[in-house]
Amino acid sequence: MNQYMLREEIIRCAKRMEEYGLIRLTGGNVSVRLPDDSVLVTPSAVDYRTMNTADIVRLSMDGTVLEGKLRPSSDYRALLYMYRHMPEVRAVIHTHQPMAVAFSLITDQLPQITTTMVDEVCGEVSVAPFTVSSDEGMGRLAVESAGDAQAVILKQHGVLAFGDDLEEALSAAVYLEESCRIYLMVRSAGFSVPALTSEQIEAENNTGEFYGQQQEE
Ligand SMILES: [Zn+2]
Repeated sequence: MNQYMLREEIIRCAKRMEEYGLIRLTGGNVSVRLPDDSVLVTPSAVDYRTMNTADIVRLSMDGTVLEGKLRPSSDYRALLYMYRHMPEVRAVIHTHQPMAVAFSLITDQLPQITTTMVDEVCGEVSVAPFTVSSDEGMGRLAVESAGDAQAVILKQHGVLAFGDDLEEALSAAVYLEESCRIYLMVRSAGFSVPALTSEQIEAENNTGEFYGQQQEE
């Protein structure tokens, strides 16, 4: 995928984040690591519905603006910290998804309670301690709290979800939101929420070959 197509995909991803109820207005951000280790990131406080590809800012790993006239997302220091310390990560999205934020107000570890958490979030999810937004510390706490999962909940703030590409990051954020919703519904009904056992998780991890369409040879 060339850089122009990636810029289009970033805007498409941000619009889908709003569609799935993960953000409102200009909240959150979307970023992708390029093969030369620079990072494309959405600009600060621009409406995703009117954003165009030239508005996306390209940054070096030290935060120098390489391309773009607008200021990058105010969280760019945290994002760059993540890209520097998670070399396998190629895409990061940041959301303010309400179910995950509600979850962060009552406890700090979401065990794997659904098959989609096993398949799409890839592990139990931790709540990183509170930190102000727009600070590198948000990225540092996310890296420290990530574990095996492809998402971290930021206490009283939102979520950072990541993966090989934007599709993976978005999927992790959407299914994390769904599991947080389920967790809160069960707790609201007065019940405790059972986690999957390690045997169930292992069995679920072995079902991947049945999911999706077979590739034509
Ligand atoms: Zn935020």
